[in-house]
Amino acid sequence: MTSIPSFERDPYLRRLDVEVLGVGEAEGRPYAVLDDTLLYPEGGGQPADQGRLGDIAVVDVQKVEGEIRHFLASPGETGAAVLLLDWQRRYDHMQQHTAQHLFSALALARFGWATRSFHLGPETSDIELDAPELSSTQLAALEDAAMAEIVASRPITTRRVSPEEYAELDVRSRGLPDGHRGDIRLVEIEGIDLNTCGGTHLESTGEIEAVKILGTERLRGGNRVRWVAGARVRSRLAAHEARNAELRGLFDTDDASLVEIASLKLDQFGRARRRIRQLEAELAQARVESLAASDEQVVTAHFEDADGGFLQTAARAFLERAPAKACLLTAEGGKGAFFLVAAGNASSLDAGELGPRIAEIFEGRGGGSGAIFQGKAGSLDRRAEAAALLQRTAGASSHPG
Ligand SMILES: [Zn+2]
Repeated sequence: MTSIPSFERDPYLRRLDVEVLGVGEAEGRPYAVLDDTLLYPEGGGQPADQGRLGDIAVVDVQKVEGEIRHFLASPGETGAAVLLLDWQRRYDHMQQHTAQHLFSALALARFGWATRSFHLGPETSDIELDAPELSSTQLAALEDAAMAEIVASRPITTRRVSPEEYAELDVRSRGLPDGHRGDIRLVEIEGIDLNTCGGTHLESTGEIEAVKILGTERLRGGNRVRWVAGARVRSRLAAHEARNAELRGLFDTDDASLVEIASLKLDQFGRARRRIRQLEAELAQARVESLAASDEQVVTAHFEDADGGFLQTAARAFLERAPAKACLLTAEGGKGAFFLVAAGNASSLDAGELGPRIAEIFEGRGGGSGAIFQGKAGSLDRRAEAAALLQRTAGASSHPG
């Protein structure tokens, strides 16, 4: 490996002739070590590059004890090869990462907020600022300041300096790693920022294209600011627009009225749901009254579009009216199939004893205590059999011998 890898010398290089010096495997993942590389290893908040080594996909790049390992989709071999960079992914990272430099520099210089950490995610990125309070006005001012520097297209350069030169410079830095020796790599945004960094950067702030702050959340006494930069601003806008277009169609309205109409519909939905619950209760009452009034000692009923909660309500009402009777109730709806056995105090039947046997017939499970046993059914196909068991038991206990 040459001392300075290609991605540092020229982050815009996409193809490189390399020599595979060695191949190996770590935790079942094959990797290759090259004499030079275009691919940035994960670090400093920036994810690893991807690409191809000959015909093999490079899925990850990690720096391990000073060695850059190119993790491969399948084992490689030593010798000459062509290394290709997944440029779209890298350029996106360069846009997000350079935007981070800009945000961090402006946050410190204009507002006095130091950056504690940076994270580049697949959809959004964030920096953690040492700012306990962030108003929307301040965030807008930070975004405006960043946009002004993007429009100004300030040149961005990198260089290496000796530790002696470094000591003389006014560098905004998160500090050097412990045990750092030798030259120090600096990144400069002309007139804005001088910082230590080993990452990949754009040549001009103009290439950031645009930034948009999406929101903040409080964290460890500071604030995490989430944002998008570069092509992500447009792709995010496109996704929002497509979603809004669908919502406009669904609600038959325009953007300005979407929230109002959606709230209105949710209100209506809530009222309708309450009304349905009320009607269900009335229906249960009516069915239960007719069941309780029947001459039979054991009655059965099935309810469509109902659940276990409904059966419970119906059973309690039934037992109140007919404490000497027993019932087998079943229901089927969106939540599945349910069964319930209830036997009043004055009934000759024991729900706790019958319940498990009924559960078995329904290929389900249940539980209960006292007068009610209920559960979920695997299938209600054998309802007649379950009803017959209840009838038989009732007959046997009321006519002993
Ligand atoms: Zn950087």
